[in-house]
Amino acid sequence: MAALVLIFPPLPRLRVLLQRCWGRLERGLLPGFFGGQSPPWGPALAVQGPAFLPEPVTDTTESNEVPSLLDSILWMAAPKKRRTIEVNRCRRRNTNKLIKVKTNIDVCPECGNLKQKHVLCGYCYAKVKAETRLIRLEMHKKEGGPFNAPTVETVVLYDGEKPTEKDEGKRIIERARKRPSWFVQN
Ligand code: ZN
Repeated sequence: MAALVLIFPPLPRLRVLLQRCWGRLERGLLPGFFGGQSPPWGPALAVQGPAFLPEPVTDTTESNEVPSLLDSILWMAAPKKRRTIEVNRCRRRNTNKLIKVKTNIDVCPECGNLKQKHVLCGYCYAKVKAETRLIRLEMHKKEGGPFNAPTVETVVLYDGEKPTEKDEGKRIIERARKRPSWFVQN
């Protein structure tokens, strides 16, 4: 019984104190919701109110918001779904990607190698290139220096060929070999 006597007397005081504190909290924190009185305390303004209170509609989030780090990142295109191996193989081995069969292959009339119809024969071209290089070496030996463009025509003579009266005054290059069949003498 002694314990009850000790406990009972503080209860009304505690209740009065709690009511007073709650009333201050109501007036301070929620002035618009409980009677519209002005807040007596300063710190009440610093506490965020409940979410169900009507808030002024001010759409300042876009204008005043500091651009975040993610906004400055340029997002590259990335696949959202993994393509199956069947789809990938159908794309890789598509008939449009295969090498086309060429039907315009012909036999070179000079050397007999295969070549495309509208393209120079590579073997004949290499032969002409090598012979032309040797002729240029002969010209280099005759001129003794870097090539200059002579005003006279150049005639190439092979073994067993003599300059005719038509070749008088022209520059004559002699080659110590038989004339190739593709190099026609004018
Ligand atoms: Zn050829």
